[in-house]
Amino acid sequence: MKIVMLGAPGAGKGTQAKKIAEKYQLPHISTGDIFRANIKNGTELGQKAKTYMDQGLLVPDELVVDLVVDRLKQEDCKNGYILDGFPRTIPQAEALDAALKAIDEKMDYAINVEVPDENIINRMSGRRACVSCGATYHLQFNPTKTEGVCDACGSELILRDDDKAETVKKRLDVYHDQTQPLIDYYKNAGILVDVDGTVDMNDVFNAIVQILGE
Ligand code: ADP
Ligand code: ADP
Ligand code: ZN
Repeated sequence: MKIVMLGAPGAGKGTQAKKIAEKYQLPHISTGDIFRANIKNGTELGQKAKTYMDQGLLVPDELVVDLVVDRLKQEDCKNGYILDGFPRTIPQAEALDAALKAIDEKMDYAINVEVPDENIINRMSGRRACVSCGATYHLQFNPTKTEGVCDACGSELILRDDDKAETVKKRLDVYHDQTQPLIDYYKNAGILVDVDGTVDMNDVFNAIVQILGE
């Protein structure tokens, strides 16, 4: 099963992708996580990506597409995968489709997690990310047992630089402008499914399981 997660920044793509990955035993491929790991390790890709990410802009397509296409060739992807944060532009979606077509495959589902802009700023300002394992929490909606400490690994939690209100507004503009057109793209491809992302995260997941099957 090959799945694309769509939705605004903070809609809950990562949260749901992790749950889907666990239930259906599929790799969760997050381009944001890949870039953040590169930044942490000080790679050239990381340095390039950071200048865009800090401004709330998208990393240019040419730095993203080959990275993902190569990742999909790895052994763990042979039964499918969940793409979280990719594609984010029409050219990225077209490049993905072309790469799949070349090996006679196609995406199965594009799951669009719908959350209105009014809810997003609150979601992002309360998001806390683990510095070492990448787990995400929310101060209000998904708190850790001990404030500021990751439940999974015990490391420190931070507010991502790009989750500060000024940058979030920019990221929302970029989303509407460059990423939202993918909703029609996948609707036309006949694989779009919408889920209400404003309800409790477990209920969002139940709705997704209804679609994907038990
Ligand atoms: P969020 O979880 O809020 O949706 P991500 O972790 O997916 O954010 O992405 C963080 C940042 O990384 C984006 O704002 C963008 O700068 C960059 N990025 C991630 N994926 C892509 C992509 N497919 N194309 C371009 N830039 C990307
Ligand atoms: P995305 O990957 O789309 O940027 P995340 O999965 O990181 O979004 O979720 C953004 C923030 O909102 C996180 O702090 C997360 O814990 C919280 N969150 C996710 N889903 C829900 C939900 N259904 N209700 C409330 N908060 C949520
Ligand atoms: Zn952790």
